[in-house]
Amino acid sequence: MSMIDVERLRGDFPILGEVKVHGRDLIYLDNAASSQMPRVVIERIARYQCEEHANIHRGVHHLSDVATTAYESARSTVRRFINAREDREVIFTSGTTDAINLVAHGWGRAFVGAGDEIILSEVEHHANIVPWQMLCEEKGARIRVIPVDERGELDLDAYAGLFNERTRLVGITHVSNALGTVNPVREMIATAHARGVPVLVDGAQAVAHEPVDVQALDCDFYTFSGHKLYGPTGIGILYGRAALLEKMRPFKGGGDMILSVSFEKTTYNTIPHKFEAGTPPIMPAVGLGAAVEYLSALGLPAVAAWEQSLLAHATERLTAIEGVRIIGTARHKAAVISFNIADVHPHDVGSLLNDEGIAVRTGHHCAQPVMKRYGVPATVRASFAFYNTRAEVDALVVAVQKIRRLFE
Ligand code: PLP
Repeated sequence: MSMIDVERLRGDFPILGEVKVHGRDLIYLDNAASSQMPRVVIERIARYQCEEHANIHRGVHHLSDVATTAYESARSTVRRFINAREDREVIFTSGTTDAINLVAHGWGRAFVGAGDEIILSEVEHHANIVPWQMLCEEKGARIRVIPVDERGELDLDAYAGLFNERTRLVGITHVSNALGTVNPVREMIATAHARGVPVLVDGAQAVAHEPVDVQALDCDFYTFSGHKLYGPTGIGILYGRAALLEKMRPFKGGGDMILSVSFEKTTYNTIPHKFEAGTPPIMPAVGLGAAVEYLSALGLPAVAAWEQSLLAHATERLTAIEGVRIIGTARHKAAVISFNIADVHPHDVGSLLNDEGIAVRTGHHCAQPVMKRYGVPATVRASFAFYNTRAEVDALVVAVQKIRRLFE
């Protein structure tokens, strides 16, 4: 496994060298919200815009053909990245939220009825709660919740006990955005499949940080966003098992998702086009393809090893500061640390860190049930990428010590 040469790789990210905050070098620790784009992605997007842009699929002219090839080859790149069996199992969406909504509408409205149940975990992002709640309201179905323990690990015995003959779907996050917990999704999928229940995995916080193989996981749906994967906003992926996608109803109607239309009857296109109505986000898809190529060339095992070393270092140093409480201490974590400093409001911590040039996220992280579980309204969240350094972690620690002293 090759190691990460972090100083050299930082040179790939223009924003890391260019931005000053209050006269200081930017220390960007908000990667779980959105990561930065390397120059190759920015340049690929620019090249697409300068040399290849046209609408896709329906054109016979040269540029339309070039743009179609660029878009469809991005799909193949993503397929290889997650090891899906076929390109048609990879659907471009506008992001994770859009992908989950697509499943809630396309699959849920067809297969969930009154009295049915959907199992979600207590650590889900709102994107993997609200679409199911809306479906349940419409259908008279209900949500069952897998509880999380004090460390931030899901209670797997309780999970196994939630299944019954009305269970229609399990929706679980691969990595919790608020706690950093890496859930044992493979084992949880096996539990669900043993009872004939399909599983959607929200991979928004996982794909950029560890290798993901949808066939090895054996998941039925897997979702993620380009902007957390060193790509642009406005693009995301729904992976779905072909047999399930074929049974699903389209979510949006319009151009490109049809084979024929008359006022009497419309025949839908084959997958994946059935789910990509209208002009899709062509340029963001091309950018995502470039981001995935960049990350694949680095190698996710090396990325994960570096990020884990940052996590261990940050955890050790922050834990040593009196008054700092880390929320989420699971045995298997991604490089995300949620914490609070005594009773200082997280927003105050966030803006004091900003004064030092350090970007973190503060708030409920779109995971209010998790905040409620830990009895806090909000946390400060530092989230690392492979381009972060030990020196940046140390700067965070020094700034936290300073804030702690201010409020003593
Ligand atoms: N799921 C998780 C675990 C997330 O962390 C996020 C974003 O923070 C989302 C879903 C929603 O992603 P998006 O806003 O890109 O749709």
